[in-house]
Amino acid sequence: MNLPWLDPVVERLEASLSAQRLPHGLLIGGTRGTGKNRLARWLAGRMLCLAPSGANACGQCRSCQLADSNTHPDFRIIAPEGPGGQIKVDEIRELIDLLNLTPGIGSSRVVVIEKAEQMNRSAANSLLKTLEEPSGDVWLILVSDRPDWLPATIRSRCMQLTIPVPDPGIAAEWLAQTRAPEPSDDGQDASVEPDARSPENLELALVLTGGAPLLAAGLLDRGRVGRAVRLLEDLLALETGQKHAASVVSEWTDEAGEGFEWLARWSAQAIRLKTIGESTIGEAAARSTALVRLAELDIDRLHAAYRFSLECRRLADTPMRADLLLTRWFSQWAKRSA
Ligand SMILES: [Zn+2]
Repeated sequence: MNLPWLDPVVERLEASLSAQRLPHGLLIGGTRGTGKNRLARWLAGRMLCLAPSGANACGQCRSCQLADSNTHPDFRIIAPEGPGGQIKVDEIRELIDLLNLTPGIGSSRVVVIEKAEQMNRSAANSLLKTLEEPSGDVWLILVSDRPDWLPATIRSRCMQLTIPVPDPGIAAEWLAQTRAPEPSDDGQDASVEPDARSPENLELALVLTGGAPLLAAGLLDRGRVGRAVRLLEDLLALETGQKHAASVVSEWTDEAGEGFEWLARWSAQAIRLKTIGESTIGEAAARSTALVRLAELDIDRLHAAYRFSLECRRLADTPMRADLLLTRWFSQWAKRSA
């Protein structure tokens, strides 16, 4: 899997599997972008493999090959369609029909439900019956960024595993080892240069994603860290009068949603830098000129900026016009600097 912060969890799961003590319902929770789905797929692969060695599926047997090509008769992954999509009761019923069959290949049937909190109520009720009376060779692996949104009846019937946000040092080391993707030749995103994997960029990518390594990797791959730093520099340029709000607003209108998220992250990190010091974000990020300058500003303003950024981030998903939201944000910011 090559996600080193998951090694202790993998070891524990492997030990439970070997001892045949793994419960039939498992709920993997934790922050988005920490590798929960990959952990669930690893576990499913390991359970289905006909000749596993230690923590690893063999990758060679018929079961592994079918799982790799997503055609395994005893394995399903269910996920909602789109960000706000629901998992509906029909999908769960279909699943239960599958679980009532005899395994086709090995001795286990495994179902992974990603974003399980997006099951609607009847889907959850329907799943509950299966969790209450699991048959011996069926395993259900639920994955959720927000396990607390799942009905308590579901949670209580699963063994809960929480994946923590990894230590920033471990995450940055892993990011340094992940290679930037080759530029695609299909013309898509050709203008986007992945961000260089400098220590500063790696740590800033973690700052911008709340320490979630897979999200940070995505940000670096899409060449967005430099852009987020640019937003911070624009903010500081407003502060010193080198730029006018109108030009900053028009530059960021198309990226307002992500921009508000970055503004929230930048202000939160400036507050941490001011109050706790560099230890929480890494030395290279703490030396980042723009972040250091932001942290020199008044802490009440930073707190206000953080709160208002979160509010605007939420509003950016409504039909509200992005340029108006940005104008409000920057005029609020400018008012406090007067
Ligand atoms: Zn295998």
